[in-house]
Order: sequence, then C-alpha cells, then structure tokens
Amino acid sequence: MSEGGPQELRQGFDTDGGSAYHCAPMLTSQLPSRVEPYKLAARHERLEGLVALDGLKRLAEEAGVQTGDCQVTLDFTIDAQGRHEIRGFLEAQLRLGCRRCLVPMAQAVTSEFLLGMVTDEALAGELPASHEPVLVKNEQLDLLTVVEDELILSLPQVVYHDEADCFVPAHQLVSKADDDGSAEAPAAADNPFAVLSALKGKK
Ligand SMILES: [Zn+2]
Repeated sequence: MSEGGPQELRQGFDTDGGSAYHCAPMLTSQLPSRVEPYKLAARHERLEGLVALDGLKRLAEEAGVQTGDCQVTLDFTIDAQGRHEIRGFLEAQLRLGCRRCLVPMAQAVTSEFLLGMVTDEALAGELPASHEPVLVKNEQLDLLTVVEDELILSLPQVVYHDEADCFVPAHQLVSKADDDGSAEAPAAADNPFAVLSALKGKK
C-alpha cells in the first residue's frame, strides 16, 4: 500500500538532524482514516502518511487553527505476551501563541507512543502502564482520532519567543520578573496550596 514511489523522489530532501526514531522519508500520501487494526497487527504492517492539521477540530480548540500536515508512522504488531499494539511516531510543525506577547510562533511537536488495543473499556485496566489503551470497536479504528489525541497530549504547556524575537520588549520582562531572569512569577491565587496556607494563617 505504501510502497510505489520512485526512490529518488522519496529521498530528494536533505533532512539531516531528524528524529532519532527513524530517518523519515518525505511522506506524500494521506494516512488512511479508518483501518482494521487487528488485521494490520497480525500482518505486522507499518502505515506511514500525512494527516492534514486543518481538519482536526479538537486540536484547533486547544491550540488554535493549524495548517500543514502531521507526519505519522504507525507500526502494528503483536508482542510476546500476545498483546495487539501500535508503536507510533508523529511529527508536526504547529503555530502556538507565545505566552508573553500572544503572537503565534512555530513550534515543532513530536511524540512517540505505544498503544494497546482493547475491545472493551473494561479491558484497558489489564494493560501495563507502558501502554495507552485504544478502544477498537467492530474491528475498526479511526486513525485520525488517534493522531489528534496524541497531538493534543504532546502540546507544550507554554511556549515563549526568545527574548530578542518577542513582541514584549525585554526591559519590560525584567521589571516584571523582579530581575531574577524568570518571567514567570505565579500569582499566589494560582496555587491552591498557597491559598490554603493563607487561609490557615488567618486563624
Ligand atoms: Zn512573544
């Protein structure tokens, strides 16, 4: 399914310093949205392809509307214990708002993940902690949902421009951060324990 492109086309881009996981060829085909994962695992198949980011609505809610593609590699396999699993890797260039100035900045997001297939949510508890459960209904799995879930889990908590690139000038940061080099001075109210101890202190 994924074979067929001429070698010189697939290797035509200079991509040194890529992921340590594998040397990703330049992907050009879309990842299929619906697959039968138990069959793929039985055949130890690898699926590689792109997922268009602008179609991922939950991601847009979390991180703003995105463009471009996510590159995905999924290895379907059965491990020594007979578990049907998916070993995955994804990579995407997102645009996320800088925490200081709110202007979107490019942010590379990558994730390696290990999924254990279950046919019933009750069986998820039997998976070891190393495996995230993925529910397979009627032999079918929606890969776009899987990829979107992983992307959302992989989002950084906060991103900042480098000081020189930020639209909030550095001298403003210094005055705010009380000169300790950290722009993040969490307000006491953000910390439930601080609130708690403040309350205790009043008695
Ligand atoms: Zn900024």
